[in-house]
Amino acid sequence: MFPTSVPWPNGARCAVAFTYDMDADSILHLAHHATAHSRVASLSMLRYGPQVGMPRILKVLKEAGIRQTFFVPGWSIERYPEAVEAMLKDGHEVAHHGYLHELPSEMNAEQEAYWFQRATDVIVKYTGQKPRGYRAPSYRFSDRTLDLMIAGGMTYDASLMGDDVPYVLESEAGSLVALATHATLDDWPHFMYGRDFNYVMQVRSVTAAFEVYRDEFDAAWEEGGMWIAVWHPFLSGRPSRAQATARLIRHMQDKGGVWFATMEEIAAHVRSLQAAGTWSPRVDRMPYYTGPIPELFEGPGVTAAGART
Ligand SMILES: [Zn+2]
Repeated sequence: MFPTSVPWPNGARCAVAFTYDMDADSILHLAHHATAHSRVASLSMLRYGPQVGMPRILKVLKEAGIRQTFFVPGWSIERYPEAVEAMLKDGHEVAHHGYLHELPSEMNAEQEAYWFQRATDVIVKYTGQKPRGYRAPSYRFSDRTLDLMIAGGMTYDASLMGDDVPYVLESEAGSLVALATHATLDDWPHFMYGRDFNYVMQVRSVTAAFEVYRDEFDAAWEEGGMWIAVWHPFLSGRPSRAQATARLIRHMQDKGGVWFATMEEIAAHVRSLQAAGTWSPRVDRMPYYTGPIPELFEGPGVTAAGART
């Protein structure tokens, strides 16, 4: 066992969650308030997610016999309820991903609290229960987000990148389980190409991208850790990528000792290990900082030139 190895259920070596963020076209309306409605090609690319990508992804997951977690903005739930009904019908978890994919770290406290609650209300209305977890849109978790999640009764966060195994985020308000991921396992850097987002990079081949995903899985399996993908139906729901997903799942199943689980199941398992005293996750006390670090303002000052990337 590696020092970080987690005692997963039934002696499994690795926990795996194929999580999907079904943003649909919320991200375009957010990026271009006044003109999104007229950017029709981008709208069609993003609507492909709920309308064409989702049925294909659900089929792959169903054939593999696994249930996973979908993070869906509240607006996208209201706009594409059939896609959400299909997720629920297959037993998947629907989790919080903002209302219009708004970015908490770019908002003030009042704005963040308003949209967080509005999205929560939509999830309750459409799924019949409060969301157990949250992924901040575009990973823009703010220094207030944790407290909002704890106040909302959530059990886990899926926005951060601080470890290879579950850890705990703790503040004055309480604590929850952090299930971290990394851009390596996000499909945007591999597959996204969109001029309306100023995201114009060479699209990688399925072989190249899935080599990265598989290597990450093999290493997580070796260490007894976890593997959490952050994929989007409009990208990973296309035929070649969905077929590669099925092959990757087979690779995992053939290797053995893999616990395919929803995010809420992984978080609940971590809490049960803590309660039993079998395993103690690392604890990060939040917030990391309460404001700009004072050193920035000492001496003659430091320049920010070159740091704004
Ligand atoms: Zn998203």
